[in-house]
Amino acid sequence: MIWDSIKTISDYHTGLHERKFSVVEAITELYAYIEKRDTDVRAFLQLQKEEALAVARSIDNRIQAGESIGGLEGVPIAIKDNILVSGFPTTASSHILESYMASYDATVIQKLKKAGAILIGKTNLDEFAMGSSTETSAFETTKNPHDITKVPGGSSGGSAAAVGAHMALGALGSDTGGSIRQPAALCGVVGLKPTYGAVSRYGVISLASSLDQVGPFAHTVADVARIFQVIAGADAHDATSHAYDTSSLTHFDQSRARTRTIGVVDEYLHEQGMSHEVSVATQNALERFKNAGYTIKHISLPHVQYALSCYYIILPAEASSNLARYDGLRYASQTQNSKLKTQNLLQTYLDNRGKGFGDEVRRRVLLGTFVLSSGYYDAYYSKAQKVRRLIQDDFLKAFEDVDIIFAPTAPSTAFALGEKTQDPLAMYLEDIFTIPVNLAGLPAISIPVDQEYSKEHMPVGFQLIGKPWGEYDILNVGNDYETNLRN
Ligand code: GLN
Repeated sequence: MIWDSIKTISDYHTGLHERKFSVVEAITELYAYIEKRDTDVRAFLQLQKEEALAVARSIDNRIQAGESIGGLEGVPIAIKDNILVSGFPTTASSHILESYMASYDATVIQKLKKAGAILIGKTNLDEFAMGSSTETSAFETTKNPHDITKVPGGSSGGSAAAVGAHMALGALGSDTGGSIRQPAALCGVVGLKPTYGAVSRYGVISLASSLDQVGPFAHTVADVARIFQVIAGADAHDATSHAYDTSSLTHFDQSRARTRTIGVVDEYLHEQGMSHEVSVATQNALERFKNAGYTIKHISLPHVQYALSCYYIILPAEASSNLARYDGLRYASQTQNSKLKTQNLLQTYLDNRGKGFGDEVRRRVLLGTFVLSSGYYDAYYSKAQKVRRLIQDDFLKAFEDVDIIFAPTAPSTAFALGEKTQDPLAMYLEDIFTIPVNLAGLPAISIPVDQEYSKEHMPVGFQLIGKPWGEYDILNVGNDYETNLRN
């Protein structure tokens, strides 16, 4: 079997160069595997087999002609279903977008296509990326590939599970409060949330525009770096995007890595909701850094205790504005609209939004509308913006003493399906360690502490948080951990 011996993009490219298999053979075998494996995992909402095989054939022709291939050529990548791929449905896992067909490619998709990646399908997510378990999807429940009685995390649970179950070599997700890093941790894969502005958001369904970033999942730091290198950079369609010099992102250098000082956040060490398992595993990871000669310093982020409260004002405020455009008429098909029974426009909106949005989305739209309402704006929204600034300043101050900040990714390992669906606050607490990073606009990567998982020992991830535009440092140190320090 082709895929048995392939874990990374470079393993795959080596096999292609040595002509052990063709791209078409590899992709055909991959779909056969997905069709079996995904009946349990349910990572995908739709597959794009025909288009994928057409790209595979064109790359095979180039290999036949003796051309060398590189980058992401022929690499199967799964795409979170809140990112537009022209000609395919994009649902954000919501009934309100059930019949929406994307009419253009998101910038990240254009870039992946140009780099020769093979888009294999769209993955499940929490509805409009609101959630931490992928259970708010209107369509299906994705399972953790290491134990299908457990959640994969969220909101990019489908993308994380697709990579974790070896149904793709890489995937794209989006991270507004932790939606790449938390599912990466729970599924035992690597996930990178880039600096705000590093990757274009054009063609990505907005949740909270001042927090959203697209980023990659893969099995290794090197693969994540390779995908990030392709998707990063300025885009005329997104005024918040920024030029990015990606040329040396994959030039890892162990001795340079080990000159970095790692900060440990005092406030996080006593976080009450953290499970014993996560605490022990992340301490082990930290010991490994210490033993390798890294300088470790304690730092304080005094305002992070307010991060969750601050986020759950800013996010609903921005989300309620962004989601106002979904009235059930726009982004719907002609046939869907022609079935409308009422002649009353207001009633139509109420019906469409009432039926089209699930509970979690409605909860946040209500909350957001409330915090933005006149009379409450200053008390909630303006105040939250001020707190956000204090949190940002805490990080910038800490970065005067350290180069990188170490933290757990999620407070517990994958929890049982259904365990937190009735308790929104318990679900929100999943992001206690990831949300501050989005509020401050920083890059962070989640890396599995260990390599082997079982039902008894589900994956645990730790985060390396970087300075603004400090992706190279966290990738370089992360690569050192993964290749030299981990058992
Ligand atoms: N789980 C967080 C939330 O529900 C983060 C979501 C995200 O990053 N998209 O808002």
